[in-house]
Amino acid sequence: MGKIVLTADRPTGKLHLGHLVGSLENRIKLQEDKNYSKIFIMLADGQALTDNSKNPEIIRDNIIQVLIDYLSVGLDPDIVTFCIQSQLPALSELNFYYLNLVTTARLERNPTVKTEIEIKKFGKEGLPVGFYTYPISQAADITAFHADVVPVGDDQRPMIEQTREIVQKFNSIYGEVLTMPDGLYPKNAKSSRLVGIDGGTKMSKTVGNCIYISEDEKSLKKKVMSMYTDKDHININDPGKIENNVVFTYLDVFCEDRHFSEYFKDYKNLDEMKEHYKRGGLGDVACKNFLFNILNEKISKYRVSRKKWESKIGDIYDIVLNGTKVAIETTERTISEVKSAMNIDFFTDKTKIVKNWEQCLSV
Ligand code: ATP
Ligand code: MG
Repeated sequence: MGKIVLTADRPTGKLHLGHLVGSLENRIKLQEDKNYSKIFIMLADGQALTDNSKNPEIIRDNIIQVLIDYLSVGLDPDIVTFCIQSQLPALSELNFYYLNLVTTARLERNPTVKTEIEIKKFGKEGLPVGFYTYPISQAADITAFHADVVPVGDDQRPMIEQTREIVQKFNSIYGEVLTMPDGLYPKNAKSSRLVGIDGGTKMSKTVGNCIYISEDEKSLKKKVMSMYTDKDHININDPGKIENNVVFTYLDVFCEDRHFSEYFKDYKNLDEMKEHYKRGGLGDVACKNFLFNILNEKISKYRVSRKKWESKIGDIYDIVLNGTKVAIETTERTISEVKSAMNIDFFTDKTKIVKNWEQCLSV
């Protein structure tokens, strides 16, 4: 049997370019790869509520947006099983048992959660327990599907590590039941954690520094034109800096040599363009226009596909309903295996339990 893939997104908003290069493009490759027999993609609405308890409607309303994003970029519903986390009770059950395998000290050391706590400004008194423990519920998600591979961005490394520790611990106590997963990360470090258009933290729905996959041409242009470059590059002839210059970070991720013959004939490749910018004589507006053309070309095909799917909401409902039914079956099977390994499968085999209870009384 081929490998199993599980990955998820929080329906906190439409998907952005960070998702595209950080995870979606890897998922699209996997669906063409015969080594993978099953791909599950989950809308993590339960996890999204851990920091959105006061406005749950945002999460509910974005489920359809994220589903349309998936389908627009080319995830194929005939290959991928799409499902909704809140409809899978086995995940909460697994989480219930895994909570005992992790210490609060270990949770405190999770660098992604630490950063997110700071960004979200919960303060000392306002940190929800569900948010603090979400790496454990993520381990429940991954293991419930017996996932071998989890295609994610760099911010998820600590979650994969935490999951691996839980698997190791569970299996050493109860026997080899859970599958040890591996993260699958983009090769390019800049894609693995695409920075936001503000040049600050990673592009993130909650921070609001995103270019969305569904962005229209006008707002895409506005966002690219507002990007940070080099604050000391005031006049066109001033020498410019490439490091931490958001426009060049995006060019590093999205630009290919062929883009020069199409949109910027002055240069053959990005190195030539960078050299000119560094010595002075190349203006920011020209660089931004070039980037705009590249990004617009990339996402314009998704806009067309999005329009098509927007007129088929009933079909999308059926896709996710059928996928969730498959996911319920899969995850229920896992929780049965887990409870059997833990010897708490009280009501599946009366003879076994009665015998066991008789033995307990005889000692
Ligand atoms: P939120 O702000 O609600 O946490 P998000 O923008 O961080 O949303 P998630 O749903 O948390 O998006 O992440 C889904 C997947 O996309 C994860 O695998 C994550 O690693 C990846 N991802 C998210 N943002 C980026 C980014 N800027 N660069 C690369 N990968 C990313
Ligand atoms: Mg996130």
